Amino acid sequence: MKSAIYPGTFDPMTYGHLDIIKRAANIFDELIVGVLDNKEKTPLFSADVRVNILKEATKDLPNVKVESFGGLLSDYCKSKGIYVVVRGLRAVTDFEYELQMSQINRKLSDNKLDTVYFNTSLKYSYLSSSSVKQIAQFGGDLTDFVPDFVADMLLEKFDQKN
Ligand code: ADP
Repeated sequence: MKSAIYPGTFDPMTYGHLDIIKRAANIFDELIVGVLDNKEKTPLFSADVRVNILKEATKDLPNVKVESFGGLLSDYCKSKGIYVVVRGLRAVTDFEYELQMSQINRKLSDNKLDTVYFNTSLKYSYLSSSSVKQIAQFGGDLTDFVPDFVADMLLEKFDQKN
């Protein structure tokens, strides 16, 4: 069985992420979406909430599993025995960072870990979690960016903050 891990912060998941998940789930027998629980960052949503959002959005994809992880990606992959990492590329600007990360992960895993990249679908090439948060902060329309239940959670979050 060929498995892969799609790691990320997903704060929150957008249609851009979901598109990559669906396409990777078509190629791999099993896809684990790994939600990074980084205690040094202060995400808008807790790791548990980010995991639940992804679980709800992928509930019709039987070969997709969502879980959170902390620490090094290479250690997480080792613990699962999975050595294929999926990442998305939106623009050349993503490339430098992604290349560096994949080389570091390869080094840390004794050359076991490989990263495969999915080019963004053009309609999501501008989409990022941070732009979605900015739009939500000012009450903008999120219809084309995130599922409705995520839009509601974002608006509620910013309502609480104001
Ligand atoms: P990071 O893991 O760098 O904190 P994210 O959680 O936002 O960032 O993204 C996880 C992965 O999904 C990254 O590989 C990122 O490039 C990719 N990604 C984010 N948004 C999109 C999009 N709109 N289209 C394709 N890939 C995307």
